[in-house]
This record gives sequence, structure tokens and C-alpha cells, in this order.
Amino acid sequence: MAEQKRDYYEVLGVDKNADDAALKKAYRVLAKKYHPDMNPGDAEAEKKFKEASEAYAVLSDPEKRRQYDQFGHAAFDGGAGGSGFGGFDFSSADFGDIFGDIFGDFFGGGSRRGGRSSNAPMKGANIRTSVRVTFEEAVFGTTKTIELNTKEECKTCHGTGAKPGTEPTTCGKCGGKGQVVFTQQSFFGTVRNVQTCPDCNGTGKVIREKCSDCRGSGYVPMKKRFEVDIPAGIDNGQCKRLAGQGEPGVNGGPRGDVLVEVIVGRHPIFQRQDYNIFSTVPISFPVAALGGEVMIDTVDGKVIYDVKPGTQTDTRVRLKGKGVPNLRNKEVRGDHYVTLVVQVPDRLSGEAKDLLRRFDEVSGDSLNAAKKAGPSPEGKEKDGKKKKGFFK
Ligand SMILES: [Zn+2]
Ligand SMILES: [Zn+2]
Repeated sequence: MAEQKRDYYEVLGVDKNADDAALKKAYRVLAKKYHPDMNPGDAEAEKKFKEASEAYAVLSDPEKRRQYDQFGHAAFDGGAGGSGFGGFDFSSADFGDIFGDIFGDFFGGGSRRGGRSSNAPMKGANIRTSVRVTFEEAVFGTTKTIELNTKEECKTCHGTGAKPGTEPTTCGKCGGKGQVVFTQQSFFGTVRNVQTCPDCNGTGKVIREKCSDCRGSGYVPMKKRFEVDIPAGIDNGQCKRLAGQGEPGVNGGPRGDVLVEVIVGRHPIFQRQDYNIFSTVPISFPVAALGGEVMIDTVDGKVIYDVKPGTQTDTRVRLKGKGVPNLRNKEVRGDHYVTLVVQVPDRLSGEAKDLLRRFDEVSGDSLNAAKKAGPSPEGKEKDGKKKKGFFK
């Protein structure tokens, strides 16, 4: 009689009504934890792994599960014997599918997925960097020099990594394929796994005598300078791509790119939104009232703007075409919006005050309007001292 076996549901830690997904999930966790590859030489882990695999093999098969639910372990007694697995054919095709499906996830691809050859040509890595430009440089475009740490093919060995006069030899372990397939004989049959060859790290070649200049890597670090053309209209955070200027490719693949992020500095008076520029310009009360010319700063220099008589504060005017050139066509430009803010004079001479009172008298007498209307029930409030009351 075989030793006392644990209940399959208990082994997987699921309840009797667990569905396929729950079973699979439970088994996946256990298999990952106790798989012999993860626990080399650990007999206890191997035992647990086999126990869980057996439980999963039975419970994931509707027919076997039904039998097990009805008769317990007795359902499978009296089979092949010796192995402790009763009458199971653990090498059957559908059984392989069950495990292949699960193991495929944690053996990096595995035989079922075809596997990508790791000595195929691969594009080199992109290099990211950034460059700072001023507000005006972003508007009108500029050229910047950047310096990057990258790597170049070693001139001594022409990128092979082998000492001059020697050549890399085909890796004996993988026969130049860069991958090794190892098969595992488990109680449930043969499992095929594909891994990157540990001897050559997937390159398919081994270097017996390393090039001393690059220590066998085939690359040497290098500082490179680039002139980067920053186009007119570029905005903060946008990237300029220098195609084919990144790190060298692997196995004859093309070079990666250099991605230059443009960081645009702030401007003391201009703000930008898309292709429009915004600014604020103070105007005096007489100009606002009577109209007149004001000087406005734009990215093209100063322009004279004719303020209309009776302009209210916070009036926004548009200077057409004084904005940022469009990235695609720099002849097309956004606009510059100017907010005119009427300034209230805070330091007046006696004469100016008299004139202003005189002006008030002839234009509505606002200084005496309250007196004429009579006091409010709350009494007189002085502006400034009871500001909150004033705005109530
Ligand atoms: Zn070298
Ligand atoms: Zn190899």
C-alpha cells in the first residue's frame, strides 16, 4: 500500500468547487515555488512539486476529477504501481499541453513559442538626452552642440572582441545558435526548455583570446559631439530625433537613435501656449481714456500699438502673426495676445490731485456721490480698513 496521500484539493489549497482558472492559478504558484530548477538538490521541494503536479493533473481533467470526487485516491489505485501515480499516463499529449502552457510562462519563452534566436540582428539602443534653449531660440530655431557618452566599435578588433590575429570561434555548447535546449525527464514526461546559452551569452561565438583594447566586448566607450538643429517653433518637452546616431546594433543590426528632449527656458514677460504668445502691458489712465500709442514688446522687437479711446482694463488685443512659427511651416505664425492693464496712479502731486478732482466734478462727481445718496444703515466704511466689508 502506498503511503498516506494528501487530498488533492488540500495540496493545491483550493476548495472542492474551484473552477479551472482557480486550479491553474493555484498550481502555477506552487509549481513556480517548488520547481526543481528553482530548488536544485532540494528533495523536499521536488516532492512537493510532484505532489502538486499530480493533484493538478487529476483535477484539471474533468473525467479524472469526477472519478476522484467519487472514489478519492482509490479511483486510481491498482494501476502501473511503483511510481505512486496509479494508472496515469503522464506522457500523454494533452498532459504535455497542460504543463507546457504553464511552464511556458516562466522559462522565458520555451520550446512551444518557437523562441527568438538571440543572435539575430538587433537595433542598437536609443540614447536619450536633453538640451536647454531660451524662449527666443525655441521661437526662431537654433543650433546646439551636445556631447554624449556612447560606444563605438573597437577599431583594434573591428568589433569582434577577439585579440588581433585570432578569431572568435563558434560556441561549442550551443553550436553557434546562441540558445540551448535542455530536456528534463520528469515523472510526467519530457519537458523541453530553451535558454540563452550561458557560455556565449547568446552570441553563438566564444572568444578565446580577448582584445585588450575593449576587453572582449568589441566596443569602446566614446564621447561624441553632435550639432543639433533645433527647428523654429519647437516647444518645451518636444524631442528631436537623430536617427542612426545611437548605440551600435548587435549582430549587424542598425544603430539606435539619439533622442534629444528640448527644454525651453522661461521668459520674463512672454508666456507661450501652442503657437500663441501672451503678455501683459500696463497703460496709463489717460491713454486708456483718451486713446494713444503704447510700446509693446514682441519676439520681433518693439511695436507701436494704437490704444482705442475708452479702453477698459484687462482688454485683450491681438497682434496678428507675432506669435510662434509653426514647426511644419515657419511662414505660418501664431498670434501675440496682449492684455492691457490700466494703471491707477498712486503718487500724485498736489496739482495733479486738484486736476483730478476738477475732472471728477465735470464728469459725474463720483467723489461726492455717496454723500448725496445718504449714509447706508451700516454707516460709513473706510476703504482699506474694512476691506472684507467693502466686498461683501
Ligand atoms: Zn577590441
Ligand atoms: Zn553558446
